[in-house]
Amino acid sequence: MQNTLPTFNDPLAGVYINGQWLAGGECLSVVNPATEMPLASVGSGDAGTVDQAVRAGGEAFPAWAARSGAERAACLRRIAEGVRARRERLIQLQSSNNGKPLAEAGLDVDDVIATFEYYAGLAEGLDAAQDRPVELPSEDFAARLRREPCGVVGLIVPWNFPMVTTAWKLAPALAAGCSVVLKPSEVTPLPELELASIIHDSGLPTGVFNLVCGTGLAVGAPLASHPRVAKVSFTGSNAVGVQVMQRAAETVKGVSLELGGKSSLLVLADADLELAVELACGGAFFNAGQMCSATSRVLVAEALVADFLARVKARAEAICVGDPFAEGVEMGALVNQAQYLRVRRHIERGIEAGARLVCGGERPQDLEQGYFLQPTVFADVPRDCNLWNEEIFGPVLCVRSFASEAEAIELANDSEFGLVASVVSTDAATAERVANALQAGMVWINSPQVIFPQTSWGGYKQSSIGRELGPWGLSAFQEIKHVVRAV
Ligand code: NAD
Repeated sequence: MQNTLPTFNDPLAGVYINGQWLAGGECLSVVNPATEMPLASVGSGDAGTVDQAVRAGGEAFPAWAARSGAERAACLRRIAEGVRARRERLIQLQSSNNGKPLAEAGLDVDDVIATFEYYAGLAEGLDAAQDRPVELPSEDFAARLRREPCGVVGLIVPWNFPMVTTAWKLAPALAAGCSVVLKPSEVTPLPELELASIIHDSGLPTGVFNLVCGTGLAVGAPLASHPRVAKVSFTGSNAVGVQVMQRAAETVKGVSLELGGKSSLLVLADADLELAVELACGGAFFNAGQMCSATSRVLVAEALVADFLARVKARAEAICVGDPFAEGVEMGALVNQAQYLRVRRHIERGIEAGARLVCGGERPQDLEQGYFLQPTVFADVPRDCNLWNEEIFGPVLCVRSFASEAEAIELANDSEFGLVASVVSTDAATAERVANALQAGMVWINSPQVIFPQTSWGGYKQSSIGRELGPWGLSAFQEIKHVVRAV
């Protein structure tokens, strides 16, 4: 891997409709968060561009929907191949635009490849399953089941895992036979622009995939309310998720929402403490904590908490923070100034509320430029304070102790969110019992946050509506039709 920052001839076209790149109107300034320097400027769209993109998707839809699953699968496999061929470039774009270390960006790109290949497999299975007879309690009727793509879909994604959040929507939508209008985050459009160029080269039929860069208000809002969009799949904040749902409601379109989280890692009394520290740091500091699945609440059995805090402090202070392109860097920059200031404000409010700062909380002394923050650990975090209840979306780990398993479960489930949870225990039966009691869409036991395309993604309560990945991710883009015939 060469450590070279990508350079661009400005401005980049940020609108791709019907197989054509269009310049777009106003330019978005894209910044490298590790240097605070402009990286590129990207032409953006508006309501008119969204309308054009939706119409292009509508024209391409019937022919794409009529293709066999096997034919659509072949397109998905070519996209996966294209991503593999440009892996290095995509890693560099992901790191320079988002601020994450190269190794983390590599995991993102591999996830994109795995997702397209997985949904190619599911698309191949669609043909044999189509028109499957349905058993009825009467011999006078025969019924068959069809799964059909729901139409033109709008995909709106955030900046924390650009390309990955896109792939989790785009691959199943294309596999199902939908045509697509994608709106990347205005903060991190560069990886998606490269992905669009890969899709262009893959030979996907013109108009099936369209992309419009721009802000949420200029592009996301008209996409969410466009009457010819059959469904909106959104990943982002709860505040915007609510707005998307309200807009979609006007034309009664389906929505899938992947929103925020406030997830817990439970260190039970019999836990392997070294493993617990590793998993706690991974769950709080990976991607600089900018994860919907961040386990920013760490619940530790009373008997272990002093030892745990000493070890977690030592580990957090040893994390190498810096230039995402530099060898050995474990944590990069926060994505932009707004996010950096938001997280700093959370830290200040937590201190004001009485949480005990164990380490971090400041910009690393050797990094004057870039949106860098030290890995931060708080202990004795009051149950009613912002750090315990609100999504921080930064490298902040908050510890509380518990006296019993029941108290740990109660504390973990006491949240308006329910995305993920982690359990650390050397006793398999205890760990499984606790996992079953947690209100979360994904629970890891003694495991880092591994995600496979085969398992679902999404959560309880205000974290999600619907599930991504697995067969659930595909059915989110399908209508169900039964044909019943009198015999
Ligand atoms: P955000 O909600 O600000 O923006 C997400 C997307 O919505 C962006 O593309 C944005 O331009 C667009 N948008 C903004 N206003 C809009 C509007 N009025 N109508 C339509 N679209 C609009 O989120 P963000 O700051 O980019 O990302 C961080 C958030 O995403 C966090 O809350 C995080 O928890 C969440 N997230 C959730 C998951 C998950 O799987 N549950 C995954 C990643 C991120």
